[in-house]
Amino acid sequence: MFRTIEEQVLKQAAPAALKIEFAQHDFERLRSFCILIYIASTVIWLIFDLIVSFPGRQGFTVYSMVFLVILALTTIILRFTRKARHFQWVNLLFVLTITIGVRLVIEGLPMDLHPGWLILGASSILYSASVMPLRRWSFFAAILITWAVLNPFWATQIAISELKGLMVLVYALFLSTLTLYSFLKLRQAKLHNYIMSKLLLDQAYLDTLTEIPNRRSFMTRADQRLQALPREHEHYLAMIDIDNFKKVNDLYGHDIGDEVLKRIAADIKSVMVDFDYARLGGEEFAIYLAGVRRDDVEALAGRLCQVVRDQTTQHPVTISIGLARVEEGDSLNQALINADRALYESKHSGKDRYTFHVPS
Ligand code: GH3
Ligand code: MG
Ligand code: MG
Repeated sequence: MFRTIEEQVLKQAAPAALKIEFAQHDFERLRSFCILIYIASTVIWLIFDLIVSFPGRQGFTVYSMVFLVILALTTIILRFTRKARHFQWVNLLFVLTITIGVRLVIEGLPMDLHPGWLILGASSILYSASVMPLRRWSFFAAILITWAVLNPFWATQIAISELKGLMVLVYALFLSTLTLYSFLKLRQAKLHNYIMSKLLLDQAYLDTLTEIPNRRSFMTRADQRLQALPREHEHYLAMIDIDNFKKVNDLYGHDIGDEVLKRIAADIKSVMVDFDYARLGGEEFAIYLAGVRRDDVEALAGRLCQVVRDQTTQHPVTISIGLARVEEGDSLNQALINADRALYESKHSGKDRYTFHVPS
Protein backbone atom coordinates (compact mmCIF):
# COMPACT_ATOMS: atom_id res chain seq x y z
CA MET A 1 0.00 0.00 0.00
CA PHE A 2 2.76 2.40 1.04
CA ARG A 3 4.66 1.58 -2.16
CA THR A 4 1.60 2.23 -4.33
CA ILE A 5 0.98 5.64 -2.74
CA GLU A 6 4.70 6.44 -2.87
CA GLU A 7 4.99 5.60 -6.56
CA GLN A 8 1.91 7.62 -7.41
CA VAL A 9 3.09 10.66 -5.46
CA LEU A 10 6.66 10.63 -6.71
CA LYS A 11 5.54 10.38 -10.33
CA GLN A 12 4.28 13.96 -10.16
CA ALA A 13 6.79 16.81 -10.17
CA ALA A 14 6.87 18.76 -6.89
CA PRO A 15 5.37 22.26 -7.28
CA ALA A 16 7.76 25.19 -6.77
CA ALA A 17 5.96 26.38 -3.63
CA LEU A 18 6.35 22.95 -2.04
CA LYS A 19 10.08 22.94 -2.84
CA ILE A 20 10.48 26.32 -1.13
CA GLU A 21 8.56 25.06 1.87
CA PHE A 22 10.82 21.99 1.97
CA ALA A 23 13.96 24.16 1.73
CA GLN A 24 12.83 26.15 4.75
CA HIS A 25 11.95 23.01 6.71
CA ASP A 26 15.28 21.39 5.83
CA PHE A 27 17.21 24.50 6.87
CA GLU A 28 15.39 24.77 10.22
CA ARG A 29 16.16 21.12 10.91
CA LEU A 30 19.84 21.43 10.01
CA ARG A 31 20.77 24.93 11.19
CA SER A 32 22.52 23.76 14.36
CA PHE A 33 24.34 21.07 12.32
CA CYS A 34 25.57 23.81 9.94
CA ILE A 35 26.75 25.91 12.89
CA LEU A 36 28.67 22.87 14.12
CA ILE A 37 30.31 22.46 10.69
CA TYR A 38 31.27 26.16 10.66
CA ILE A 39 32.80 25.95 14.14
CA ALA A 40 34.67 22.72 13.34
CA SER A 41 35.97 24.17 10.03
CA THR A 42 37.12 27.35 11.77
CA VAL A 43 38.88 25.37 14.52
CA ILE A 44 40.68 23.04 12.10
CA TRP A 45 41.70 26.01 9.95
CA LEU A 46 43.06 27.77 13.04
CA ILE A 47 45.02 24.67 14.09
CA PHE A 48 46.70 24.47 10.65
CA ASP A 49 47.29 28.21 10.69
CA LEU A 50 49.00 27.94 14.10
CA ILE A 51 51.12 24.98 12.94
CA VAL A 52 52.28 26.90 9.87
CA SER A 53 52.75 30.10 11.91
CA PHE A 54 54.80 28.69 14.80
CA PRO A 55 56.49 25.33 14.10
CA GLY A 56 56.49 26.41 10.41
CA ARG A 57 57.99 29.79 11.42
CA GLN A 58 55.76 31.87 9.15
CA GLY A 59 54.59 34.09 11.99
CA PHE A 60 51.02 34.68 13.18
CA THR A 61 49.93 37.81 11.28
CA VAL A 62 47.04 40.23 11.50
CA TYR A 63 45.55 38.41 8.46
CA SER A 64 44.92 35.37 10.61
CA MET A 65 43.02 37.55 13.08
CA VAL A 66 40.95 39.09 10.25
CA PHE A 67 39.99 35.64 8.91
CA LEU A 68 39.17 34.40 12.38
CA VAL A 69 36.91 37.41 12.98
CA ILE A 70 35.07 37.01 9.63
CA LEU A 71 34.58 33.26 10.15
CA ALA A 72 33.30 33.83 13.69
CA LEU A 73 30.99 36.64 12.55
CA THR A 74 29.56 34.45 9.75
CA THR A 75 28.86 31.72 12.30
CA ILE A 76 27.10 34.25 14.55
CA ILE A 77 25.08 35.53 11.56
CA LEU A 78 24.05 31.95 10.80
CA ARG A 79 22.94 31.55 14.40
CA PHE A 80 20.42 34.37 13.82
CA THR A 81 19.49 33.48 10.21
CA ARG A 82 15.86 32.41 10.03
CA LYS A 83 15.22 32.13 6.28
CA ALA A 84 16.65 29.37 4.09
CA ARG A 85 17.19 31.80 1.20
CA HIS A 86 19.38 34.04 3.38
CA PHE A 87 21.43 31.02 4.44
CA GLN A 88 22.46 30.44 0.80
CA TRP A 89 24.31 33.78 0.83
CA VAL A 90 25.70 33.40 4.34
CA ASN A 91 27.18 30.06 3.27
CA LEU A 92 28.79 31.54 0.16
CA LEU A 93 30.42 34.20 2.36
CA PHE A 94 31.74 31.45 4.63
CA VAL A 95 33.02 29.35 1.70
CA LEU A 96 34.75 32.38 0.18
CA THR A 97 36.41 33.35 3.46
CA ILE A 98 37.57 29.87 4.40
CA THR A 99 38.90 29.05 0.92
CA ILE A 100 41.00 32.24 0.88
CA GLY A 101 42.12 31.47 4.44
CA VAL A 102 43.11 27.92 3.45
CA ARG A 103 44.96 29.19 0.38
CA LEU A 104 46.99 31.62 2.51
CA VAL A 105 47.90 28.91 5.03
CA ILE A 106 49.03 26.62 2.18
CA GLU A 107 51.12 29.48 0.75
CA GLY A 108 53.22 29.13 3.92
CA LEU A 109 54.14 25.51 3.07
CA PRO A 110 57.01 24.36 0.84
CA MET A 111 56.07 24.78 -2.86
CA ASP A 112 55.94 21.07 -3.77
CA LEU A 113 53.30 20.44 -1.09
CA HIS A 114 50.86 23.02 -2.49
CA PRO A 115 48.86 20.93 -5.03
CA GLY A 116 48.23 18.06 -2.59
CA TRP A 117 47.08 20.33 0.23
CA LEU A 118 44.94 22.44 -2.11
CA ILE A 119 43.11 19.26 -3.16
CA LEU A 120 42.72 18.21 0.49
CA GLY A 121 41.30 21.62 1.39
CA ALA A 122 38.90 21.58 -1.55
CA SER A 123 37.67 18.04 -0.71
CA SER A 124 36.89 18.97 2.88
CA ILE A 125 34.96 22.07 1.84
CA LEU A 126 33.04 20.34 -0.96
CA TYR A 127 32.15 17.40 1.27
CA SER A 128 30.83 19.73 3.99
CA ALA A 129 28.82 21.74 1.45
CA SER A 130 27.28 18.58 -0.01
CA VAL A 131 25.55 17.69 3.28
CA MET A 132 24.22 21.21 3.92
CA PRO A 133 20.65 22.37 3.21
CA LEU A 134 21.63 24.31 0.08
CA ARG A 135 19.67 25.15 -3.03
CA ARG A 136 21.15 23.79 -6.27
CA TRP A 137 22.48 27.16 -7.52
CA SER A 138 24.11 27.81 -4.19
CA PHE A 139 25.90 24.46 -4.19
CA PHE A 140 27.13 25.05 -7.76
CA ALA A 141 28.39 28.49 -6.68
CA ALA A 142 30.20 26.89 -3.72
CA ILE A 143 31.94 24.44 -6.09
CA LEU A 144 32.99 27.29 -8.39
CA ILE A 145 34.35 29.43 -5.55
CA THR A 146 36.21 26.47 -4.06
CA TRP A 147 38.01 25.58 -7.31
CA ALA A 148 38.60 29.21 -8.26
CA VAL A 149 40.40 29.95 -4.98
CA LEU A 150 41.94 26.53 -4.36
CA ASN A 151 42.85 25.91 -8.01
CA PRO A 152 45.82 23.49 -7.78
CA PHE A 153 47.22 24.76 -11.12
CA TRP A 154 47.26 28.40 -10.15
CA ALA A 155 50.57 29.71 -8.74
CA THR A 156 51.91 26.14 -8.29
CA GLN A 157 54.66 24.20 -10.02
CA ILE A 158 52.48 21.67 -11.81
CA ALA A 159 50.96 21.80 -15.28
CA ILE A 160 48.03 19.81 -16.66
CA SER A 161 50.28 18.33 -19.36
CA GLU A 162 52.55 16.60 -16.79
CA LEU A 163 51.80 13.24 -15.17
CA LYS A 164 51.35 14.82 -11.72
CA GLY A 165 49.07 17.53 -13.15
CA LEU A 166 46.97 15.00 -15.03
CA MET A 167 46.43 12.96 -11.87
CA VAL A 168 45.44 16.07 -9.93
CA LEU A 169 42.99 17.07 -12.70
CA VAL A 170 41.36 13.63 -12.84
CA TYR A 171 41.03 13.53 -9.05
CA ALA A 172 39.53 17.05 -8.98
CA LEU A 173 36.96 16.05 -11.59
CA PHE A 174 36.13 12.83 -9.73
CA LEU A 175 35.75 14.71 -6.45
CA SER A 176 33.48 17.38 -7.93
CA THR A 177 31.26 14.79 -9.64
CA LEU A 178 31.04 12.63 -6.53
CA THR A 179 30.09 15.49 -4.20
CA LEU A 180 27.67 16.93 -6.76
CA TYR A 181 26.02 13.55 -7.26
CA SER A 182 25.69 12.87 -3.52
CA PHE A 183 24.35 16.38 -2.98
CA LEU A 184 21.65 15.97 -5.65
CA LYS A 185 20.71 12.44 -4.57
CA LEU A 186 20.53 13.36 -0.89
CA ARG A 187 18.45 16.43 -1.68
CA GLN A 188 16.05 14.43 -3.84
CA ALA A 189 15.65 11.75 -1.18
CA LYS A 190 14.96 14.36 1.51
CA LEU A 191 12.45 16.15 -0.72
CA HIS A 192 10.63 12.87 -1.42
CA ASN A 193 10.48 12.05 2.27
CA TYR A 194 9.14 15.49 3.02
CA ILE A 195 6.42 15.24 0.37
CA MET A 196 5.43 11.74 1.53
CA SER A 197 5.23 12.63 5.22
CA LYS A 198 3.25 15.76 4.42
CA LEU A 199 0.79 13.78 2.33
CA LEU A 200 0.41 11.05 4.94
CA LEU A 201 -0.05 13.60 7.73
CA ASP A 202 -2.68 15.39 5.65
CA GLN A 203 -4.48 12.12 5.09
CA ALA A 204 -4.23 11.18 8.76
CA TYR A 205 -5.59 14.51 10.01
CA LEU A 206 -8.11 15.56 7.34
CA ASP A 207 -11.58 14.17 6.79
CA THR A 208 -11.59 12.82 3.23
CA LEU A 209 -15.21 13.68 2.44
CA THR A 210 -15.47 17.23 3.76
CA GLU A 211 -11.76 18.13 3.67
CA ILE A 212 -11.90 19.73 7.09
CA PRO A 213 -9.90 18.39 10.10
CA ASN A 214 -11.01 15.00 11.46
CA ARG A 215 -11.53 13.69 14.98
CA ARG A 216 -7.85 12.82 15.48
CA SER A 217 -6.81 16.33 14.53
CA PHE A 218 -9.51 17.87 16.73
CA MET A 219 -8.60 15.86 19.81
CA THR A 220 -4.93 16.83 19.46
CA ARG A 221 -5.56 20.52 18.89
CA ALA A 222 -8.36 20.89 21.44
CA ASP A 223 -6.21 19.14 24.03
CA GLN A 224 -3.39 21.63 23.34
CA ARG A 225 -5.78 24.57 23.73
CA LEU A 226 -7.16 23.05 26.89
CA GLN A 227 -3.70 22.76 28.42
CA ALA A 228 -2.61 26.24 27.32
CA LEU A 229 -2.17 28.48 30.34
CA PRO A 230 -2.76 31.19 31.38
CA ARG A 231 -6.19 31.69 29.88
CA GLU A 232 -7.08 35.17 28.75
CA HIS A 233 -10.77 34.47 28.24
CA GLU A 234 -13.20 31.61 28.56
CA HIS A 235 -13.09 28.45 26.46
CA TYR A 236 -16.16 26.77 24.96
CA LEU A 237 -16.81 23.52 23.17
CA ALA A 238 -19.57 23.12 20.59
CA MET A 239 -21.08 19.86 19.33
CA ILE A 240 -23.11 20.06 16.13
CA ASP A 241 -25.49 17.49 14.69
CA ILE A 242 -27.53 17.76 11.49
CA ASP A 243 -31.27 17.56 12.10
CA ASN A 244 -33.22 14.68 10.55
CA PHE A 245 -30.26 13.75 8.40
CA LYS A 246 -31.48 10.19 8.02
CA LYS A 247 -34.42 11.59 6.06
CA VAL A 248 -32.10 13.36 3.63
CA ASN A 249 -30.40 10.07 2.88
CA ASP A 250 -33.70 8.19 2.67
CA LEU A 251 -35.37 10.79 0.42
CA TYR A 252 -32.56 11.81 -1.92
CA GLY A 253 -29.94 9.09 -1.56
CA HIS A 254 -26.52 8.83 0.03
CA ASP A 255 -24.77 10.98 -2.60
CA ILE A 256 -26.96 13.97 -1.83
CA GLY A 257 -26.41 13.23 1.86
CA ASP A 258 -22.67 13.50 1.22
CA GLU A 259 -23.17 16.82 -0.59
CA VAL A 260 -25.10 18.16 2.40
CA LEU A 261 -22.28 17.08 4.72
CA LYS A 262 -19.77 18.96 2.57
CA ARG A 263 -22.01 22.04 2.54
CA ILE A 264 -22.38 22.05 6.33
CA ALA A 265 -18.60 21.63 6.69
CA ALA A 266 -18.08 24.64 4.42
CA ASP A 267 -20.57 26.69 6.47
CA ILE A 268 -18.78 25.78 9.71
CA LYS A 269 -15.47 26.68 8.12
CA SER A 270 -16.72 30.09 7.00
CA VAL A 271 -18.37 31.07 10.29
CA MET A 272 -15.76 29.52 12.63
CA VAL A 273 -12.68 30.47 10.64
CA ASP A 274 -10.83 31.65 13.78
CA PHE A 275 -11.41 28.45 15.74
CA ASP A 276 -10.60 24.73 15.66
CA TYR A 277 -13.38 22.79 13.97
CA ALA A 278 -13.66 19.20 12.79
CA ARG A 279 -15.96 16.48 11.56
CA LEU A 280 -16.01 13.99 14.41
CA GLY A 281 -17.70 11.32 12.29
CA GLY A 282 -21.09 10.65 10.64
CA GLU A 283 -23.07 13.91 10.66
CA GLU A 284 -21.45 15.24 13.83
CA PHE A 285 -19.07 18.17 14.01
CA ALA A 286 -17.25 19.88 16.88
CA ILE A 287 -15.69 23.30 17.44
CA TYR A 288 -13.26 24.40 20.14
CA LEU A 289 -13.70 28.11 20.83
CA ALA A 290 -10.69 29.38 22.78
CA GLY A 291 -10.38 32.89 24.21
CA VAL A 292 -14.00 34.03 23.75
CA ARG A 293 -16.82 35.45 25.84
CA ARG A 294 -20.22 33.86 26.26
CA ASP A 295 -21.78 36.66 24.15
CA ASP A 296 -19.43 35.87 21.25
CA VAL A 297 -20.23 32.17 21.48
CA GLU A 298 -23.95 32.91 21.41
CA ALA A 299 -23.57 35.20 18.40
CA LEU A 300 -21.43 32.68 16.51
CA ALA A 301 -23.73 29.73 17.24
CA GLY A 302 -26.78 31.80 16.25
CA ARG A 303 -25.12 32.84 13.04
CA LEU A 304 -24.10 29.30 12.14
CA CYS A 305 -27.68 28.02 12.64
CA GLN A 306 -28.94 30.88 10.49
CA VAL A 307 -26.39 30.40 7.69
CA VAL A 308 -27.31 26.70 7.43
CA ARG A 309 -31.07 27.41 7.67
CA ASP A 310 -31.02 30.21 5.04
CA GLN A 311 -29.01 28.34 2.38
CA THR A 312 -30.71 28.55 -1.00
CA THR A 313 -30.53 24.90 -1.98
CA GLN A 314 -32.73 22.06 -3.18
CA HIS A 315 -31.94 20.08 -0.06
CA PRO A 316 -32.30 22.37 2.94
CA VAL A 317 -31.40 21.15 6.42
CA THR A 318 -30.99 22.64 9.87
CA ILE A 319 -28.51 21.91 12.63
CA SER A 320 -28.63 21.68 16.41
CA ILE A 321 -25.75 22.84 18.59
CA GLY A 322 -24.77 21.97 22.15
CA LEU A 323 -22.41 24.36 23.94
CA ALA A 324 -20.39 23.77 27.09
CA ARG A 325 -18.00 26.05 28.87
CA VAL A 326 -14.64 24.33 29.39
CA GLU A 327 -13.57 24.95 32.95
CA GLU A 328 -9.92 24.95 33.93
CA GLY A 329 -9.10 21.44 35.07
CA ASP A 330 -11.82 19.87 32.85
CA SER A 331 -10.70 17.02 30.66
CA LEU A 332 -11.55 17.14 26.97
CA ASN A 333 -13.75 14.08 27.39
CA GLN A 334 -15.73 15.75 30.18
CA ALA A 335 -16.21 18.84 28.02
CA LEU A 336 -17.41 16.68 25.10
CA ILE A 337 -19.89 14.90 27.38
CA ASN A 338 -21.22 18.26 28.62
CA ALA A 339 -21.59 19.64 25.10
CA ASP A 340 -23.32 16.41 24.04
CA ARG A 341 -25.83 16.82 26.88
CA ALA A 342 -26.56 20.35 25.72
CA LEU A 343 -26.97 19.05 22.15
CA TYR A 344 -29.50 16.54 23.45
CA GLU A 345 -31.39 19.46 24.99
CA SER A 346 -31.39 21.29 21.62
CA LYS A 347 -32.76 18.19 19.89
CA HIS A 348 -35.47 17.67 22.47
CA SER A 349 -36.62 21.26 22.58
CA GLY A 350 -37.36 21.48 18.84
CA LYS A 351 -33.96 21.34 16.94
CA ASP A 352 -32.48 24.14 14.77
CA ARG A 353 -31.10 25.93 17.82
CA TYR A 354 -28.23 26.13 20.28
CA THR A 355 -28.32 25.34 23.98
CA PHE A 356 -25.77 25.97 26.74
CA HIS A 357 -24.94 23.19 29.14
CA VAL A 358 -26.08 24.06 32.66
CA PRO A 359 -23.70 22.60 35.26
CA SER A 360 -25.69 20.68 37.85
P1 GH3 B 1 -31.60 13.87 14.59
O1 GH3 B 1 -32.27 15.10 14.10
O2 GH3 B 1 -32.13 13.37 15.89
O3 GH3 B 1 -30.12 14.02 14.65
O4 GH3 B 1 -31.90 12.76 13.54
P2 GH3 B 1 -30.94 12.16 12.45
O5 GH3 B 1 -31.76 11.44 11.44
O6 GH3 B 1 -30.03 13.20 11.92
O7 GH3 B 1 -30.01 11.23 13.35
P3 GH3 B 1 -29.40 9.82 13.21
O8 GH3 B 1 -28.18 9.76 14.09
O9 GH3 B 1 -30.46 8.77 13.48
O10 GH3 B 1 -28.91 9.68 11.71
C1 GH3 B 1 -27.67 10.02 11.26
C2 GH3 B 1 -27.51 9.48 9.86
O11 GH3 B 1 -26.31 9.99 9.27
C3 GH3 B 1 -27.37 7.98 9.80
C4 GH3 B 1 -26.38 7.71 8.69
O12 GH3 B 1 -26.97 7.04 7.59
C5 GH3 B 1 -26.01 9.10 8.22
N1 GH3 B 1 -24.61 9.21 7.91
C6 GH3 B 1 -23.56 9.01 8.73
N2 GH3 B 1 -22.41 9.20 8.05
C7 GH3 B 1 -22.75 9.52 6.77
C8 GH3 B 1 -21.98 9.83 5.60
O13 GH3 B 1 -20.76 9.86 5.59
N3 GH3 B 1 -22.67 10.13 4.47
C9 GH3 B 1 -24.02 10.10 4.43
N4 GH3 B 1 -24.65 10.39 3.30
N5 GH3 B 1 -24.75 9.80 5.52
C10 GH3 B 1 -24.13 9.52 6.67
MG1 MG C 1 -26.21 11.98 14.94
MG1 MG D 1 -28.65 14.08 13.23
